[in-house]
Amino acid sequence: MNQPDRSLRPVTVASEWAPDSWRARPALQMPAYPDDAALAEVQDELRALPPLVTSWEIMALKQQLAEAQEGKRFLLQGGDCAENFSDCSSEVISNRLKVLLQMSLVLVHGLRIPVIRVGRFAGQYAKPRSADTEVRGDVTLPSYRGDIVNRPEFTADARIPDPRRMIKAHARSAMTMNFVRSLIDGGFADLHHPEYWGLDWVGDSPLAEEYQRMVSGLGDAVRFMETLVGSQIHDLKRVDFYTSHEALLLPYEEAQTRQVPRQWGWFNLSTHFPWIGMRTAALDGAHTEYFRGIRNPVAVKVGPSVTPDQLLRLIDVLNPDDEPGRLGLIHRMGAAHVADKLPPLLDAVKREGRRVLWICDAMHGNTESTSNGYKTRRFHNIRSEIEQSFDIHAAAGTRLGGVHLELTGEDVTECTGGARELTDTDLERAYRSTVDPRLNYEQSLEIAMAIVRKQSQ
Ligand code: PEP
Ligand code: MN
Repeated sequence: MNQPDRSLRPVTVASEWAPDSWRARPALQMPAYPDDAALAEVQDELRALPPLVTSWEIMALKQQLAEAQEGKRFLLQGGDCAENFSDCSSEVISNRLKVLLQMSLVLVHGLRIPVIRVGRFAGQYAKPRSADTEVRGDVTLPSYRGDIVNRPEFTADARIPDPRRMIKAHARSAMTMNFVRSLIDGGFADLHHPEYWGLDWVGDSPLAEEYQRMVSGLGDAVRFMETLVGSQIHDLKRVDFYTSHEALLLPYEEAQTRQVPRQWGWFNLSTHFPWIGMRTAALDGAHTEYFRGIRNPVAVKVGPSVTPDQLLRLIDVLNPDDEPGRLGLIHRMGAAHVADKLPPLLDAVKREGRRVLWICDAMHGNTESTSNGYKTRRFHNIRSEIEQSFDIHAAAGTRLGGVHLELTGEDVTECTGGARELTDTDLERAYRSTVDPRLNYEQSLEIAMAIVRKQSQ
């Protein structure tokens, strides 16, 4: 990954902060571990393990996010709602990487600016839940909180939070990271050969022709540039890939929070770009406290109930020095509410002259249940929220700098609609998510194409 640009301004060290100062605040969504000593032992073990990412990479990403704030880059952030331990396989990882690379190819080609690729993976193992318990018939058990905490089966044993699962999550994250890095270093993402990333589906997809046209257009552009400079452009052989996850499980994040030689302050070295979920973004909450002290770029989900005043105070706490590249605001209002809810927030942030990267999560405000009992999202709502967001930002004089999506490289049927017009009855065919419904590879690519179409109007 690139060396960081040292021109990022120095900022002040968060006062009266420590990796564990969050413990004095109300911590929502935490599992009730049955044994404190076992938890402390796991934390010690985690502290002694090597980190998953480096501070150099983190600062390089921060620089790129700062450029995205200026409109010079576009952020593509995507992956599963939740990873699970059993999906840590070469096929799932490489298919997810392929679809993200294909989307970024479409975006680079269509938007004509570099794309920052951030996976929602290598650590996305903890889930916030709307209730602490799940009731089936006359049985009540603790909710499933993601593979890092407990298991999804509806048995008392499976639902007991087990701190040792954090060690396994760390190992799975490291394996994922290792495989992604190896694929990229081995030339998997070489822009000279976008055909390497072809997925079997392209042949019979309604989107195939448009995609192939873009790929060959890009190949021509690469060859043209190389003819001009007279040699191969080696930078095109590799791309940067960064990781992100919701830093929900604070004992885990705390144990990954470290100081590094020749850098001041603290870094969360379990991921490049952690975010705070909507349910844990309270100003005086434990998660906000934890996030304010780390030097990573951070993001926060902004839902329809956030007021302009609350948002400004949150910005003050998370980015008091207005540091470039530090803060992403991921709005997730839903297609039906974004036109109402977003403009006052954009106006307030603009009025105060705060520097943020606006990102649209077009998934979480658009979740609904079907009559046959599936949690789904309609493709047209997802696309509409993105398209409306571009227009709303343009009208407010702000800039939509990225998108945040739940997607997979697998051929699942979890969201309806899209080029193949999946219906509610298709859902049962390949519904694999244990949490939220994801775009499949084709729908993901179609979203990338829709973004390009929208921006070239
Ligand atoms: C998520 O990103 O999976 C999630 C739970 O989102 P939010 O916090 O926006 O509801
Ligand atoms: Mn989700």
